[in-house]
Amino acid sequence: MTARALAPAVLLSVLCLPAALGLQTGGLASPADGLHAAACAPATAGQPLPAASLTANSSSGANASSGASPRLPPPADPAGGDYRHRLQPTPFGWPRLDHWCVWIEPGATEGPAARWDQAWHQAVSRALDTWRELLPVTVVDEPERAQVLVWRRRPALRGGRASHGRAELELWLVQRGGEPLPEPRVTVSISPGQRPEAMQATALHELGHAFGLWGHSDDPADAMAAVPGPVPVLGLSRRDRATLQWLQRQPGLSPSP
Ligand SMILES: [Zn+2]
Repeated sequence: MTARALAPAVLLSVLCLPAALGLQTGGLASPADGLHAAACAPATAGQPLPAASLTANSSSGANASSGASPRLPPPADPAGGDYRHRLQPTPFGWPRLDHWCVWIEPGATEGPAARWDQAWHQAVSRALDTWRELLPVTVVDEPERAQVLVWRRRPALRGGRASHGRAELELWLVQRGGEPLPEPRVTVSISPGQRPEAMQATALHELGHAFGLWGHSDDPADAMAAVPGPVPVLGLSRRDRATLQWLQRQPGLSPSP
């Protein structure tokens, strides 16, 4: 992989509140999907574009800190069926893809840590499978082939606040045959220090950010709620689905701000 970062700093990040605790265990890891394997091939060279930095979080909204001007969120859906107006685009447009390549940090398969590592992996895989009902996703074994990297770790404190999950977006200029084009690169951190159901809810939420939902719903029943309700949300609501489907109809990243 010789692609280079467009901006040295994280472009978009969101501050997520801790998910509620749950009890359920079980489930199966998802197999890698070979259908779109070609889309996950390593890219060749690219060039950096002017830096741009944008931060969004649940408490203070979106802030541009330097570089290109951010684009404005879209107007609300007149029918109120989604929360598109809460999504923040990057200065280069919507960080969405038709197909995503995801790498999940492997854990121990034997020894004392295996039980905990596999519980974490299972929770993340279940959450990923939920998004795969709406999006083509290939799970890859090599992180350099992925646009989304999911790490088994507790996010560092930010502004004195702890959270169980975090997603951070960078834009990389990537050449896949024709002109170099920006691509999203998302780092997702999911804390293993939660009950399985809570890990799954956290993963569902953070993966929603990774797949382009850079904003929060105001309805606790939505997977992308800014403030989760007492019961972990393990499935996508009608509004979650409608918002993602709206996003997938928008143009993706453009070569310039
Ligand atoms: Zn969030």
